[in-house]
Amino acid sequence: MILYNTLGQKKMEFKTHTPGKVNMYTCGPTVYHYAHIGNLRTYIMEDVLDKFLRYEGYDVNRVMNITDVGHLASDADTGEDKMLKGAKREKKTVLEIADFYTKAFFEDAAKLNIRTPDVVMPATRCIPEFINMVTVLLEKGYAYEAGGNVYFDTSKLDKYYVFGNQTEEDLAVGVRDSVEEDEFKRNKTDFVLWFTKSKFDDQELKWESPWGLGYPGWHIECSAISIKHGGEYLDLHCGGVDNAFPHHTNEIAQSEAFLGHEWCPHWFHVLHLLDSTGKMSKSKGEFLTVSLLESKGYDPLVYRMFCLQSHYRKPLTFTFESLDNAVVAYNKLVARIAALDTEGEADADAAKEYQQKFKDALGNDLNTSLGLTCLYDVLKAPVSDATKLMLIEDFEKVLSLGLLEAAEKIRAEKNEGVSDDEAAEIEALIAERQKARAEKDWATADRIRDELKARNIVLEDTPQGIKWKKA
Ligand SMILES: [Zn+2]
Repeated sequence: MILYNTLGQKKMEFKTHTPGKVNMYTCGPTVYHYAHIGNLRTYIMEDVLDKFLRYEGYDVNRVMNITDVGHLASDADTGEDKMLKGAKREKKTVLEIADFYTKAFFEDAAKLNIRTPDVVMPATRCIPEFINMVTVLLEKGYAYEAGGNVYFDTSKLDKYYVFGNQTEEDLAVGVRDSVEEDEFKRNKTDFVLWFTKSKFDDQELKWESPWGLGYPGWHIECSAISIKHGGEYLDLHCGGVDNAFPHHTNEIAQSEAFLGHEWCPHWFHVLHLLDSTGKMSKSKGEFLTVSLLESKGYDPLVYRMFCLQSHYRKPLTFTFESLDNAVVAYNKLVARIAALDTEGEADADAAKEYQQKFKDALGNDLNTSLGLTCLYDVLKAPVSDATKLMLIEDFEKVLSLGLLEAAEKIRAEKNEGVSDDEAAEIEALIAERQKARAEKDWATADRIRDELKARNIVLEDTPQGIKWKKA
């Protein structure tokens, strides 16, 4: 597989330390609030990557942390702990908040057909590992104690800015929320490994350590959890592009200083989801969550399709108009699949050519939109319906759009006495009407509604989209 690597900033062949086996790490959510759909874009694209590696025959061990302590309001170690902020907001304890939003995260992930990683590890369950790592870093001279905290000394490294594209301006963004410089830092880029002193003394969760009662920094969590469950040699590390600096840069610094050798050669970053005002965030505008999409009548899997229509390395702009277009595309696709004849034998030999095209698409830097094109090519292909269904099932191992389930639902709900041809025609008309509505072409939408009415077809709006039945 050819995959872009932020380390080196170019596309390169993805290689693993052990043939056939991938140790993959994903930065997990900070569970102080619902994930917004911008956060979830990253998890969707990582899920496609995970599943494609499995499709290619790799044995994948994927590890993800849950940040339930230590992630401060600014990624650069300043401000209040996000978890504590969440607890105050909802007048609950930090652990109650962590439980609630961890559950909410996995519920959203399930609705988006995101597979749960093989290992999911809350930071609060790995405190001895963090303390061990900080102890070793102090012994090796990569860390120092000052003002009650333990810091990583970035001046001890030959190269700190490993991704090569950081400028002073990026650095300023990384520390933008910092009201004042931390006077105990020896270098501007040093970061906290263990806190015992912070301006926010009401931290709820604290643990005994050689440096006093305190709590871990955010960056150390990912390094220690990854090494504990993914081993000393990681093959692939994933995350949102905003984590590249300072979070991933700091993870590499402390992991390699701790291990004494290179840690992870391949870094996969997903670009931002934008709204009309710029990068989506929890603090501004309408807070877009999976539940909000559902309340507006959208199937979460349509949002997954919307994400797959674009390349992960391009920023993606979200509007409800573009989501409406994805609804039309999704419904059309499902209608065409529902119209396929489920009887008959699949031809595995005839399928190979299409499987190869699909592998070529995803294997070229995870080109998901070309992967979707492969689905359309299958529907047009001169092969039997059974072969088409077999191929769709095969591609769905990676795309996970719920297409066969949705098509099955249509088949099951199809009225007695309506022929397959007529049903496909009705589905196509409904899709056309949806598109017209999305384009605000009310005349066409009304004309199609009248035509359906004349054929005794009644439309119903449901959370799964438009359903129809004979009156
Ligand atoms: Zn991380």
